[in-house]
Amino acid sequence: MMLRKLTSRPSALTNVVRSLLTPHAAHARAPTRLAAPMTSAMISSSATPVSRVATAQARPTSRRGVAAARRSTRAFAASGGSFPAGDMRPHAELAVSSSPVTEDAANAAAADMVVFSVCEEDCAKLAADDAVFEGIAPGLGALIKELVDEKEFKGKAGSTAFTRVPKATGLPFRHVGLVGVGDPAKTATSPEVWIGFGREAAKAAREAKCSSLYLRKYWMGDTAETFRTKAASIVLGAHLGSSADLRFKSKPEPSTLKTVTVSSPADADAASVAAALAEGAATAAGVTLTKQLVAAPPNVVTPTALAETATAIAAAFPETMSVKILEEAECRAMGMGAYLGVAEASDEPPKFIHLTYTPLGSENASSLKKVAVVGKGLTFDSGGYNIKAGAGSMIEMMKFDMGGAGATLGAARTVAELAPKGVQAHFIVASCENMIGSRGLRPGDILTASNGKTIEVNNTDAEGRLTLADAIVYAEKTAGAEKIVDVATLTGAIIVGLGPEVAGMFTPDDELAASLDNASKSAGEPFWRMPVRESYWKACGMESDYADMKNTGSRGGGAITAALFLQKYVEKDTTKWAHLDIAGPVWDDKKGGATGFGAATLAKWIEGQGSE
Ligand SMILES: [Zn+2]
Repeated sequence: MMLRKLTSRPSALTNVVRSLLTPHAAHARAPTRLAAPMTSAMISSSATPVSRVATAQARPTSRRGVAAARRSTRAFAASGGSFPAGDMRPHAELAVSSSPVTEDAANAAAADMVVFSVCEEDCAKLAADDAVFEGIAPGLGALIKELVDEKEFKGKAGSTAFTRVPKATGLPFRHVGLVGVGDPAKTATSPEVWIGFGREAAKAAREAKCSSLYLRKYWMGDTAETFRTKAASIVLGAHLGSSADLRFKSKPEPSTLKTVTVSSPADADAASVAAALAEGAATAAGVTLTKQLVAAPPNVVTPTALAETATAIAAAFPETMSVKILEEAECRAMGMGAYLGVAEASDEPPKFIHLTYTPLGSENASSLKKVAVVGKGLTFDSGGYNIKAGAGSMIEMMKFDMGGAGATLGAARTVAELAPKGVQAHFIVASCENMIGSRGLRPGDILTASNGKTIEVNNTDAEGRLTLADAIVYAEKTAGAEKIVDVATLTGAIIVGLGPEVAGMFTPDDELAASLDNASKSAGEPFWRMPVRESYWKACGMESDYADMKNTGSRGGGAITAALFLQKYVEKDTTKWAHLDIAGPVWDDKKGGATGFGAATLAKWIEGQGSE
């Protein structure tokens, strides 16, 4: 098809013959399609890929016309208005504060709902005349004892019990609840547990249409440091639980919850309390942004919408954040053939996003550590010609294939607000859609990436790594990052291996693994380190007879060969690199869909890099 339409140009066959005579002449500036058989004359004749020119001539609808039609679809999804892809200031209406336990009675009396965290051991001992409860409001002990017995509440981590307060009790609040925190020996420092406390309580308060909530840890034996980390988690959870994602409802009912008060030890110093609240709120802003980006449908979160979100972050923090959006032509000029190959069948223009955080007062930028987070940003993945088909293909869920980009922008949002010193962070996303069309990537095509490596695409559904390859090259060569962490919903194989809650971490560097492990633990997001086993490159069939590599290998070890593929695009021995495969935990139907996974870990990792 393509050959017949190109009558004004040298035939492709002529080019093949020419290229055989000068085998490497055309590699210098790679077009999207295979570089080798094209002559430089062909490449320079048009900025648009040759195959696209041919298609545009044949079709009555111009490319611009199709894009306009897509825009109207976006307006429709937004109930007729312009729809924000990601809310930059989530829950601005929710005020979270802290108050010492000495004010317990007044705090509880002022709230519509009071919720306690209780561990298993304390739960077993609870009596109707419990001093803590009776100290807050006489009669509360008896009500809680009844609740515990009736619901058979044992204080297990994540378990909950809520009840309406009967008027006859005379208690000053309308609702009371318990959230289990399990065995303190295991969970005392687990952020997951304390995030859960805040989230479950706020969710219950919202569902009961309360406007104020008091969160009280039953056991208050905290040091200043343990209080700080717990409080930040509780505040994060309270923000996450306080509102539902109603952006696509025709009649959204906004959350009634307006204030949350968190108990603090009587002797806690004001500065550390304020720091905990600020940290929780900043992390919530990032995680919520990630959740909203991942949850929004693919006709709303397009590559353009992701670029707009990055631009909005830069605009909100102009002193520390700057943004550069590379358009298709610039990416072409940089030779990003692997990335543009994936983008080619889509009418949505690809957007290469580069958001940079530089701390204030960095006169000497060379003293800053330079790190990059590279997120996979496939706003929809049909699979391409290797289409996702049949039961379990999850094609209708492929809006979450930009979960890595979502986590990247969410982390940027948190970092911007927390403003860590000593580190310059680059947030990079090569965003596009993987669609099907006559201009699209064919299985068997050979692409040339921006570092000159050639890839035989034996499966068009393994597209994420193609986009990441060029983004990693950019992170190292253009952004100058010394450490690169890529984050991606990359493989189904990682879900088979680790299930829906745990993400895979791949890196040959023990130090980087340890710093990411620390960050993930303090974020409460579980990762498991996987092997970067080089012998699998050959053993699992990643070698190509005609190109430098294939993009997929055998079924076994699919998550590992994906990591090995990405590693080929890190060129310097001194550059440290890690790959995070978040395909499992990016989405959880039982927890209401998009989880926001990865944003908190990456933000904490970047923060840690600055203080190292
Ligand atoms: Zn895919």
